[in-house]
Amino acid sequence: MTYDVKCWECGRVVSDPYLDSCPGCGGLLDLEMNLTELNDLTPYDLRKRPIGVWRYAPFLPVDEKNAISIKEGGTPLYNCRSLASVVGLNRIWVKYEGANPTGSFKDRGMTVGVTRALEIGAKVVGCASTGNTSASLAAYAAKAGLDCAVVLPAGNVAAGKLAQAVFFGAKVIAIDGNFDDALRIVRELAAKRHLYLLNSINPYRPEGQKTVAFEIVDQLDFRVPDRIVLPVGNAGNIWSVYKGLAELNRIGWIAKIPKIVGVQASGSMPIVDAFNAGKSDFTPIEKPETVATAIRIGNPVSGKKALKAIYDTKGCAVAVSDGEILDAQKILGRSEGIGVEPASAASVAGMIKLVQTGEIGKDERVVCICTGNVLKDPDIVLKSFGRIKPIHADFESVKKAVVPHER
Ligand SMILES: *Cc1c(COP(=O)(O)O)cnc(C)c1O
Ligand SMILES: [Zn+2]
Repeated sequence: MTYDVKCWECGRVVSDPYLDSCPGCGGLLDLEMNLTELNDLTPYDLRKRPIGVWRYAPFLPVDEKNAISIKEGGTPLYNCRSLASVVGLNRIWVKYEGANPTGSFKDRGMTVGVTRALEIGAKVVGCASTGNTSASLAAYAAKAGLDCAVVLPAGNVAAGKLAQAVFFGAKVIAIDGNFDDALRIVRELAAKRHLYLLNSINPYRPEGQKTVAFEIVDQLDFRVPDRIVLPVGNAGNIWSVYKGLAELNRIGWIAKIPKIVGVQASGSMPIVDAFNAGKSDFTPIEKPETVATAIRIGNPVSGKKALKAIYDTKGCAVAVSDGEILDAQKILGRSEGIGVEPASAASVAGMIKLVQTGEIGKDERVVCICTGNVLKDPDIVLKSFGRIKPIHADFESVKKAVVPHER
C-alpha cells in the first residue's frame, strides 16, 4: 500500500528515511496509509493465506517480495475458561504473543522494520532495549545478513533475552545507565547515520505490530471484543493496536473499536499518572522500578500516542504492583498452562484489578495481550519459588516426596 510518512503533531511530510522525528517540531512520525487502495479487498481474500503478519500484506508499507520473515504472528488466541471463572468474567481470551519466533510480539514489528532497512539499503541496524527488542532484532538481522548493534542497561536485562541477542550474533553493548539513556544514545547514532534505528519510535515497527489487532479480530470472526488489555512500556504496541483497529474501522470491516486498556507497573507509571490527571501528555519518571523489566520505562517514547489510543476508545490506564504482577503470572500459568514473562502478566493483573473495581463488567468480552514468553525471564520464576533441595536417591525417599500420605 502507498502511504505518507507524516509528523504526528504538525502534519509535515518527512522523506528522509533516517529521521525518527519531525525536523520541524520534533514530533513523532506516523505512517498515513492510503486505505482507499483496499476498497476491493475483503477479509475472505486475506483468509486464503496462512494466519500471520504477512496475511495482512496489503496493509503493510513494504513490498512482500522483499520480506525478511521467520513466520512471525499467527499466535494462538486462547479462550480461557478457567481464568475467567477465577477472575469472575464470562469471557476472557489471551492472545499469546510468547509464541512468536523469538518469544515476544516484537517479531511482528521487526519483520517489517528489517525489511524496510534492506529496502533503503542500510548496512547496520541497531536498537536500545530492555531485552526483547534486541533479541528480536538480532534474529531478523541475522536472517537479513545485516550487522546489528544493541545497547542495553547493564545488569537489567533478563537472562533469556540477553542470551538470544548474543546467540544471534549481535554486537551487545551494556551501559551504566537505564533504558532511557540507551535510547538517547542510539538515536544520536542513527541521526548521524551510523545505524538504522529499529526501536518502536521507527514508524515502520508499529505497522508490523498492528497485525496483532488484525489477528484478534480475525480469530474472533470479526465479532470485536469489548476491551483489549495490554502492558505499556514505550507505548509502541498500544499505539499499534489502536492504529490497526482504526484502519479496520475506517475501511468498514469492523463497526466499533474496543476500549483499549494500558497497564503499567506502579513503580513505572507515567501514562497512568497522566490519565488519572486527564492530561494528553505525560511527565517522565526519573528512576522507574519494577520486576517487569520490559515495561521498566520512565520516559515512554510514544507516550502521547498511548494516551490518544486510550482516550479515543474510552479505555483507561491502570497501575499494578509487582506483587499483583507476579500473582497474575502464576494464576495464568496454573489455570491455563500459559507461561508469560512478568510484563505480559501485567495485562492480566490490570484486568483483575478493573474487575475488582467494577470498571470491567461481568459480561464484557475481554482480550488480554500477553506479550512475551515465561522462558525469557527464568530467574524471576526461580527466585519466587526458592531453592530446590536435593533428597536421597532412593525409591522410598522419592516416593515420600511424591505421595507423602500413601504408605
Ligand atoms: C516491549 C515489551 C512490552 C512493552 O511494549 P511497548 O511497545 O514498549 O509499550 C511489554 N511486554 C513485553 C514482553 C515486551 O517485550
Ligand atoms: Zn512536526
